[in-house]
Amino acid sequence: MKKVSIIGCKNYEFETVREKILESINLLGGLEKFVSPSENVFVKTNLLAKRLPEKAVTTHPVFVAAAAHILMEYGCSVTIGDSPGGPFTQSALKGIYKTCGMDFAAEKSGAQLNFNTNTVQVPFEEGKVLKKVTMVEAIHNADKVIDVCKLKTHSLATFTGGVKNLFGVIPGTMKAEYHLLWPSYNTFANGLIDICLCVNPALTLMDGIVGMEGDGPSGGNPRDIGVILASESPFALDMAAVKIINMPYKMVPTINQTIKRGIVKPSDVVLVGEDISQFIIEDYKLPKTVIMNPFLRRGKGNSEKLATDVCFDREKCIGCGVCFDNCPPKAIYMENHRPEVDKTKCIHCYCCQELCPETAVFAEARLK
Ligand code: SF4
Ligand code: SF4
Repeated sequence: MKKVSIIGCKNYEFETVREKILESINLLGGLEKFVSPSENVFVKTNLLAKRLPEKAVTTHPVFVAAAAHILMEYGCSVTIGDSPGGPFTQSALKGIYKTCGMDFAAEKSGAQLNFNTNTVQVPFEEGKVLKKVTMVEAIHNADKVIDVCKLKTHSLATFTGGVKNLFGVIPGTMKAEYHLLWPSYNTFANGLIDICLCVNPALTLMDGIVGMEGDGPSGGNPRDIGVILASESPFALDMAAVKIINMPYKMVPTINQTIKRGIVKPSDVVLVGEDISQFIIEDYKLPKTVIMNPFLRRGKGNSEKLATDVCFDREKCIGCGVCFDNCPPKAIYMENHRPEVDKTKCIHCYCCQELCPETAVFAEARLK
């Protein structure tokens, strides 16, 4: 049995969020079930890129502050952090923490921000597609990891929540190597599952107060949902979260593969707290990459007949080269300071869309 608690929360007022998170943890048996007062706890947030909190790309700083405050008050030593897309350096972290409001989260809670950019290789023999995981040292060294994720759509993974958030333990640009290793939906999903099993978070808390719909994880639009989820299992939590955004399990490769591998079955998930039906949003918008891919929509993984092309909005593009720098197979080249794609090299990972600061990357359908 995997309990997932569901509690309504309509705004980012600190005391309210703190109370609601505490309520959701108490429904699971209380904080003492997951951490001890003397432990070093790493709060793994979603800090995908340098974006303001109201863009709903990253876990909201008030949510992170409230979660960290609860842990600090309990007596834990708390570190907040993530390894965002792009280089994993102290100067990059400084800028991201500031823009995403993590300076506030640390100050409000008394927690510290992670600036340790060392990495470590962790053997993981039980992995299906990954036998060792290169991860951020500070996360590996923590006594416990708390997965503090955001509810969003995702152009490649369809959905990002508790499981996908842990891809961020992979240091910076090394994520590109993993994309190259797993170019298909199902192998990528299995890689994400292996990483999640390897990290084994003690508790997962989801910021679903304002989520992202459409071309997530960074190019979509914020959408009010008004909910907080908590679970000891990120797999079970994701199954509950996609119900709220009206996304069938078969459409989400990580959930498909979780069920196939017998990690968590839908029948294992027990919802506690408020009635989920009041939070369900029937018309939550999917990413274009999913809308245009009938095979993915039907849970078949890779498309056999229809592919999507990466395109650039010439009006929006500022020629910054972030897409060029972060394309795993180097399919992007710059011509007259503007990006172009070599379609024969593109692996449709959407890292370019994810990291473009101007939301200038979009997908277009093409028959193979
Ligand atoms: S990241 Fe976006 S804005 Fe920058 S060059 Fe690429 S498409 Fe243009
Ligand atoms: S062009 Fe974009 S989608 Fe294609 S491989 Fe490069 S980063 Fe991935």
